[in-house]
Amino acid sequence: MEFCKKCQGLMKYENDKLKCTNCGNVQEGKIAAKQKIKKPEKRGSGIIENDKNIFADYEHICEKCSYNKAQIIMRPPHISDEDDIVMLRCGKCGKSVHLEKKPM
Ligand SMILES: [Zn+2]
Ligand SMILES: [Zn+2]
Repeated sequence: MEFCKKCQGLMKYENDKLKCTNCGNVQEGKIAAKQKIKKPEKRGSGIIENDKNIFADYEHICEKCSYNKAQIIMRPPHISDEDDIVMLRCGKCGKSVHLEKKPM
C-alpha cells in the first residue's frame, strides 16, 4: 500500500506508475512491471531443399544420370492407348521413362 506524498491519499497503480486517487499526483512505482515476453522457439521445420525434387520419392535409378530417386507421374488414360500410364521422371535431370508396373 502506497500513500501520496502530497495529500497522503491512497495510491493506485496505473500502468507502471502510482497515481493518487485523491489528488491525481503521479509517482514512479516501486514495483516495476518486468514481464518477460517469451519468444516462440524456432524449430527446424519447414525447410525445403530446393536442389531436389521433393516429389521424387520413388526409388529408381536414372539411366541417364544415375540419380536414384524419381517422381511418379500418373497420366490420365485418355491420353494414351496403352495400359501403362505411369511415368517415372528423374528427380535430378528430369528424364522420363515408362514404369513397367504400377506402384502400389
Ligand atoms: Zn495525493
Ligand atoms: Zn536423371
